[in-house]
Amino acid sequence: MTRPILARIDTAAFRHNYLVAKRHAGAARAWAVVKANAYGHGLLPCAEAVRDVADGFALLEISEALGLRAAGFTQPILMLEGFFAEDDLRLAAAHDISVVIHSQAQLALLELLELERPLNVGLKFNTGMNRLGFLPQQAPALLARLRASGKVGQITLMTHFANADDTGIAAQLACFEGIAADSGLPCSVANSAALLRFPQAQRDWVRPGIMLYGGSPMPDLNTAAALGLRPVMSLASRIIGVQSLQPGESVGYGSLFRAERPTRVGVVACGYADGYPRHAPSGTPILVNGQRSRTLGRVSMDMLACELTDLAADVGSSVTLWGEGLAADEVASAAGTVSYELFCALAPRVPVVLG
Ligand SMILES: *Cc1c(COP(=O)(O)O)cnc(C)c1O
Repeated sequence: MTRPILARIDTAAFRHNYLVAKRHAGAARAWAVVKANAYGHGLLPCAEAVRDVADGFALLEISEALGLRAAGFTQPILMLEGFFAEDDLRLAAAHDISVVIHSQAQLALLELLELERPLNVGLKFNTGMNRLGFLPQQAPALLARLRASGKVGQITLMTHFANADDTGIAAQLACFEGIAADSGLPCSVANSAALLRFPQAQRDWVRPGIMLYGGSPMPDLNTAAALGLRPVMSLASRIIGVQSLQPGESVGYGSLFRAERPTRVGVVACGYADGYPRHAPSGTPILVNGQRSRTLGRVSMDMLACELTDLAADVGSSVTLWGEGLAADEVASAAGTVSYELFCALAPRVPVVLG
């Protein structure tokens, strides 16, 4: 018998969420952001689910971009951090993959190489995030160099917001506007939070990521369900042991949970080696047989404990760690993180089923 843990990936929900993003995007086109193996969900199954509706895909790894081309995807594909070395750049050009250019080093390499065909480029500006991108005042010179190189086709101006999920985008958008206004070039600025909150940020291309996976980009303002998003990943397992604790007895490493009353404890086949966050404290929500319960004590490598007192549950009962019936955002919030991190941390040892 195999260990009962399982991640179910609902690709129909991914498609549904992409169509929700498209509705918010209005006339703009939407790159489905599928970096990091589609946020841990599996690149090809997710891409397949939107094959006939996706305007494009955005990711970071050239191998994954080539995987999409090999699987017959003909849409625009954008490398969000561009190329890291000569080989990436040659492959991108050969397979009609668009690249972000955010640094002088990338620009210099582009000028140097002979390419099979012109490359579509996302020219990235730093408007306050201070992560990647050129300074806005460099725009005219950069555009002149790109055009003079003879190696670029379409140029799209890009920036990325630091606070689209809370204080907003006004200052960064105004800064970007200074470059974009009279360039006549297509623009792309919005991640999921900006797409959902700021209609003025839609422009020509939007870049939704987390919302496609049924996570809310601002769970404190809007739950994913309130945004009409459906969970894509459900992490499920079973109770493999039951303990009865007397008052004063504890469970797990460090004895972090101590019973104050007679307590039935369920031991779940899921631990941090499966991707469940070790820092999730006692009280993190969990579903047992569809009933809401809470975790107890410290998460260990292969197991965690949960409250069964007053629940109809026993060895073999089904458990949902997150997904259908329990938003990943809720679990993430209890564990002091975001659903992005839970999804991306799903461990390779967890079997994945589609549907
Ligand atoms: C990851 C990423 C996105 C998607 O962000 P979400 O918050 O997941 O919607 C958009 N743009 C860039 C440049 C990114 O790296």
